[in-house]
Amino acid sequence: MADSNFIDYVKVLCRSGKGGAGSRHFYRAKYVPKGGPDGGDGGRGGHIILRGNSHMWTLLPLRYRRHIFAGNGQSGSGGRSFGKDGEDVIVDVPCGTVVFDAETGEFLCEVTSDGEEVKLLRGGRGGLGNWHFKSATNRTPRYAQPGEPAIEKSIIMELKLLADVGLVGFPNAGKSTLLSSISAARPKIADYPFTTMEPQLGIVSYRDNRSFVMADIPGIIEGASEGKGLGLRFLRHIERNAVLLFMVPADADDIKAQYDILVGELEQFNPQLADKPRVLAISKSDMLDDELMQEIEKTLPEGVPHIFISAVTGMGLTELKDMLWAEITDERNRIEAAPITHRPLDGHHRVREEDEFIFENVPSMPEDDEEYLDDEDFEGEDYGYEMLDEDEYEG
Ligand code: GDP
Ligand code: MG
Repeated sequence: MADSNFIDYVKVLCRSGKGGAGSRHFYRAKYVPKGGPDGGDGGRGGHIILRGNSHMWTLLPLRYRRHIFAGNGQSGSGGRSFGKDGEDVIVDVPCGTVVFDAETGEFLCEVTSDGEEVKLLRGGRGGLGNWHFKSATNRTPRYAQPGEPAIEKSIIMELKLLADVGLVGFPNAGKSTLLSSISAARPKIADYPFTTMEPQLGIVSYRDNRSFVMADIPGIIEGASEGKGLGLRFLRHIERNAVLLFMVPADADDIKAQYDILVGELEQFNPQLADKPRVLAISKSDMLDDELMQEIEKTLPEGVPHIFISAVTGMGLTELKDMLWAEITDERNRIEAAPITHRPLDGHHRVREEDEFIFENVPSMPEDDEEYLDDEDFEGEDYGYEMLDEDEYEG
């Protein structure tokens, strides 16, 4: 669908900024003909940072962005002047964005909450200027470090829908009807190349301007756990649902048996789904009278809160929202209380908190800088004085 605005998968080429070169420069002034080395450090290259944005619900804004490049650090210069850091690029992404290396498939990072910032690619560190390298044995180092190179990576971003409620039921249980009757905004959903079916998202408004997201993912049950039909990629969307709403129609032969089958299918797909809070809705209850309802009541599975509803008459819908909201807030509190664990990244792609300026093989700094800037110190030494500017330095 050309006009679809729900995008849950993009591939983008990313490149952090390279570090600026350290300067190789010697101090020169009218009465200081033999000034010491004073080349400054290069600037840090720009990072690429992902930031969670709860107002975004699709990766669409990134779809046409073929690449994301951060700025390069500038070279250092004389007088121990630091080069300017390259500009960081902050990319807003919807919460629930998971990032993989497009070539290796390796997991890189994920952004789960609003405002959360994750360094995807760090910029190269700037090189040290030559003044760092002077020592008692080498007072005129002509060496300055080059900046660290940029990191380039082709990445895949995938969006896991963060629906609060996932609908689970066989076809015809009344899932779509419920969603359209209790949800206001209805985002449009793209078609997927591997299916003709589409997930439906609905934003259900609740008391006091609160709202939650409900997702009806059709075909979840029909052989889905074996990878048929919609495929696993679709099913992944509901992994984060805080609450699962099971729907079994009132005219089912055996409501408990149907419920058990649904639970079994989900567990087979992902055992973790079994831990999610559940609510059981007996749909189409407008077809029942009080007597029948009492009969059914006796046969319902234990350990799961249930409610009789009708999307047609509106029966039980407010109460259903109350039940779901209670479970959602419970679950949200539980998630917030849990310690956040981040999977570490590999090697130099590791996300670092601080840019420590650590280089290997750097001679230790002289105790007293002035010592080496003093002309007399250079007495009797033939050090083939040469003026160099950072412009001449090709590093
Ligand atoms: P889904 O396959 O689970 O999405 O089910 P649908 O929402 O498409 O509904 C299947 C059929 O059940 C449709 O013919 C609906 O009109 C009917 N239906 C849905 N909700 C109700 C209800 O509350 N009461 C009655 N009587 N019929 C309903
Ligand atoms: Mg449907």
